[in-house]
Amino acid sequence: MIPYENLNLSNKPFFKDYQTKFSQFLEKGWFILGNETQEFEKEFAHYSQSKHCIGVGNGLDALSIILKALSEKYNFSTNKNEETEVIVPSNTYIATILAILQNGFKPVLVEPDINTYNINSSEIEKAITPKTKVIMVVHLYGKVCQMDKIQEIATKYNLLIVEDAAQAHGATLKINSDNQKAGSFGIANGFSFYPTKNLGALGDGGAIITNDSELNESIRSLRNYGSKQKYYNEKIGYNSRLDELQAAFLRIKLQKLDDINNHKRKLAKLYLENLKSDFTLPVVEANFHDVYHIFAIRHEKRNELKEYLLKNEIGTEIHYPVPPAEQKALKGILDKTDFPIAKQIHETILSLPISYFHTENDILRVIEVMNKF
Ligand SMILES: *Cc1c(COP(=O)(O)O)cnc(C)c1O
Repeated sequence: MIPYENLNLSNKPFFKDYQTKFSQFLEKGWFILGNETQEFEKEFAHYSQSKHCIGVGNGLDALSIILKALSEKYNFSTNKNEETEVIVPSNTYIATILAILQNGFKPVLVEPDINTYNINSSEIEKAITPKTKVIMVVHLYGKVCQMDKIQEIATKYNLLIVEDAAQAHGATLKINSDNQKAGSFGIANGFSFYPTKNLGALGDGGAIITNDSELNESIRSLRNYGSKQKYYNEKIGYNSRLDELQAAFLRIKLQKLDDINNHKRKLAKLYLENLKSDFTLPVVEANFHDVYHIFAIRHEKRNELKEYLLKNEIGTEIHYPVPPAEQKALKGILDKTDFPIAKQIHETILSLPISYFHTENDILRVIEVMNKF
């Protein structure tokens, strides 16, 4: 069997270092917001080409706290009649939309580009109203959105950009000869360290990246009960701190993140060069350096293909089977529910094995079976 993912195997190369770290951690006895979190924040800020990193509990909290901090800084309205609107892609993972709803704002869904699966920059302008304050982009599957175009739009309409970079640690887009990393385009940007992500912890974790010192201060306070000084609470905060032990593990894995990304790129290249043309493959564009968190192909007979692969002992996943606009939880919440491009993607997309533990032979086997479909 070639499973889609095996977190034991994907983490095996780090076991020894994790165990050493865990022993030190036990001896030290500092469990919340200690030296490991501080050091990880420095290292991840540096990796992400940003000034500040604030570790939080998970990716959803990262996005939610960013919007809260922006709302405080820029006085976004939560009044029902002049509700703040946030633009978000119609095919994202539901977390991006939940972060908007948790803040009392209105998600305005915009269709993706059928080739890149990322928000279609030429559809964004049509969705902008006087109530729009933020464009929330999602670098889906590990490919950076068309940030040069999106930045132009944001400047033209005086909007803020927030990145959901939960699937794109280390992915880049070259603008003016600079390879700019995911998380370095928006005013404040969120990451998840959910175990399956390219930079995955051994439990939940997340982070916010920003160059804005004022936001850095307010986000640090928000994640820790709205408090800068213990037992003195300045605002209604959250308890969403990156766990000290996860930070310790993440520091080990961060050193290997480029290796992990390069391994996934190598496997992606095999697929791209060898899969037959019946399958719609991910686009490869000049200036974009993708990290293939997910290697997604499309096929009209997706369900049949998934069954066939399983019969041949190959595990796959669907990211995602139900588009947000059709989720029961969002029923009656969205103005518009008709998103044909998102629907088409959700009906035809299939994620192939592309994990850190997969070998080139695993992928060649998947290709051999796929090409006989
Ligand atoms: C994983 C993910 C999240 C949420 O991260 P959690 O750590 O699970 O809360 C948000 N957005 C996207 C696009 C994701 O893939």
